[in-house]
Amino acid sequence: MRIEAGVATDIGKVRDGNEDSFLVEPPLYAVADGMGGHRGGEVASQLALETVETLARSGKDTLAEQVRAANRAVYETAQRDRAVTGMGTTLTAARIVDGAAHLAHVGDSRAYLQRGGSLRRLTHDHTLVNRMVEAGEITSDEAAVHPHRNVLTRALGTEPDVKVDVEEVVLMDGDRLLLCSDGLFGMVNEDQIQAILEAEPDPQKTADRLVRAANRAGGVDNITVVIVDAHGDVGEVIAATPPGAPGRRRTLGRWVVGGALALLVVVGGLFLGRAYVDGQWYVGVTGDRVAIFRGVPAEPLGYRLSKVVEETDLSSAQVEKLAFYVNLPQGINADSFEQAQTIVAQMRTDLKAGQRQASP
Ligand code: MN
Repeated sequence: MRIEAGVATDIGKVRDGNEDSFLVEPPLYAVADGMGGHRGGEVASQLALETVETLARSGKDTLAEQVRAANRAVYETAQRDRAVTGMGTTLTAARIVDGAAHLAHVGDSRAYLQRGGSLRRLTHDHTLVNRMVEAGEITSDEAAVHPHRNVLTRALGTEPDVKVDVEEVVLMDGDRLLLCSDGLFGMVNEDQIQAILEAEPDPQKTADRLVRAANRAGGVDNITVVIVDAHGDVGEVIAATPPGAPGRRRTLGRWVVGGALALLVVVGGLFLGRAYVDGQWYVGVTGDRVAIFRGVPAEPLGYRLSKVVEETDLSSAQVEKLAFYVNLPQGINADSFEQAQTIVAQMRTDLKAGQRQASP
């Protein structure tokens, strides 16, 4: 899987300092939105991301544990240094490992996934208004203009320990991750964000355009955008090349040797192809059910190059109705059996979410 990233940050039109920070250190990507006075916010967001970056380089701990360590670092500095007392920061981070995005999140910055024409929010805002929305007390439209919409229920640096939300998303070819501070989605609604994500293929230009859109809409806050594009290696069958026609002046003996060599090449090619095919996995359809296949979803030369390894109880017709999985009949590639199982688990979750939305 090949990853391409773009990043843009801007002070906006109203603030007199930029308290947002970002991290683009492949395979780690993050945004942080600091708070707590002029200097505090900047110190908090930078210190948090530097801590995560340093720990990530050491290769120890999970991303969530690194974020908890960043919380301690910000908290201790805030306790020690009176100039930054009360500072804190949001942090939304993604680490791309083995074709999956591992997310860790605290606060009201956001991660989105754009896939197959849909934009999905991957994080929950840790805000008072979001808590009220989830309790059914106000609508999300009311939340967007609520006077207390900036009040966080969770942030880094305000308590000695913090609960970190985690999520894992198996990436597919063409997926686009967006990490952003509230200076983006506070100004530009999700339909407009999605329109820009779809119109601009280049990740850097996309990040620049999103920041420009937020500034055009008023730019009342700092704006930070990180775009991470995944380009998957779609399984490619190593097809055996047919041997060239024997030369006209070849003797019979030479033809036999040549033919035997050609046969070896074909057989060898099939073995190579087979080994490669066996290392491939995908999620597809058998009968009317979703299933995990070993091999590749193609039938070149009339050979079936895959077999069903696990048939699920999921109805393929229902899964295909979800925008994310319109390509299910063609097969969704995975790097391993475990990854294929994760894709199926995600389908199950998405189906349940879809049914919840559909029922009154
Ligand atoms: Mn902000």
